[in-house]
Amino acid sequence: MAVRIFDNHDLSGHNTFGMKVSCARYLEYESVAELEALDFDSLPSPLLHVGGGSNLLFSGDFKGTILHSAIRYIKYVDLGFDDVPVMVGAGVTFDDFVAQTCSHGLWGAENLSLIPGEVGGAAVQNIGAYGVEVCDIISGVVCYDLHKRKKIKFSTEECHYGYRDSIFKRPENKGRYVVTGVLFRLSRKPKPRLEYKGVREALGGAVPKTPQEVRDAIIRIRREKLPDPAVTGSAGSFFKNPVVAREVFERISPDGSAPHFDLPDGMVKIPAAWLIDQCGLRGASHGGAAVHEKQPLVIINASGKASPEEVLTLERKIISEVENKFGITLQPEVVHVS
Ligand SMILES: Cc1cc2nc3c(=O)[nH]c(=O)nc-3n(C[C@H](O)[C@H](O)[C@H](O)COP(=O)(O)OP(=O)(O)OC[C@H]3O[C@@H](n4cnc5c(N)ncnc54)[C@H](O)[C@@H]3O)c2cc1C
Repeated sequence: MAVRIFDNHDLSGHNTFGMKVSCARYLEYESVAELEALDFDSLPSPLLHVGGGSNLLFSGDFKGTILHSAIRYIKYVDLGFDDVPVMVGAGVTFDDFVAQTCSHGLWGAENLSLIPGEVGGAAVQNIGAYGVEVCDIISGVVCYDLHKRKKIKFSTEECHYGYRDSIFKRPENKGRYVVTGVLFRLSRKPKPRLEYKGVREALGGAVPKTPQEVRDAIIRIRREKLPDPAVTGSAGSFFKNPVVAREVFERISPDGSAPHFDLPDGMVKIPAAWLIDQCGLRGASHGGAAVHEKQPLVIINASGKASPEEVLTLERKIISEVENKFGITLQPEVVHVS
């Protein structure tokens, strides 16, 4: 198959926020060989690689080239051991991978069910939900280095995974690495991760026998709380949960009753949704953009016609009100693209 190229391409269908923006050029490739053969110097710059566009906020038309991977394969390396390596193309929809591995009875990805986006984006973002981060099941990431124009492999350690963070997000690596495939390590042996009370409740207190049972429970929980991108535009959690020193948490909540997670290094993670809620911002809106009623961490394109500026204004309002009330500066999880 040839590389697909479109000029002045509408990006409405390539960002789950549903922002009506365009790019100078849109280029989709199906193999690493096609990627390697591209004449990058002739493309309108800058270059931005996107996946499902489910963590992006375009603040206007993009003047450069949007690259997208259509490398789609799922290969099992089943040698009969408990651990089953699975190599997956970066352009596979992440939830298709989860659905397929759960249906094969493989444990590991089930808690990450229904997260929008593609496998490449998941490895960049280190997606996480219900006590599991994708780095827990990643064994390695294969990339194409746009600076050196050659393939490169990263072990999990070399990816320097952190909370929604990886080496691929470092400013010095911006636009450098294209993820082409991800090696996962799943397990035939039951490994249910039930740290979250909500997950245990959704399973009715029973110990799940299959990853599919956990997947079904997670899907039920997520459908209750989160907007369906096919119906209401959003990019999921707009802000990261702030990690603060214990003294800061004790100042905010002297009796310790505010929701929080104690981290092994003594720091405390506070749910950003709680901080936003405490500022009375649940349901707040600006133009067509609004804070989601069911989950205040999510900004939605409530009218379906919200402009980037309306979302950005609401973002600034949330940051400033949380800062004034708690002295904490929220950091966006959503990648801003200008
Ligand atoms: C309703 C909803 C719920 C969500 N729930 C969760 C959740 O529970 N947990 C969670 O962690 N996230 C969640 N998200 C956020 C989002 O789904 C993830 O961040 C997802 O991994 C983004 O993947 P993507 O393919 O859409 O990447 P994009 O949004 O297209 O891109 C994200 C970043 O990855 C880079 N990128 C993408 N593909 C590649 C590639 N192949 N090579 C190099 N760089 C690449 C982009 O340049 C960008 O910097 C949610 C989003 C929505 C809309």
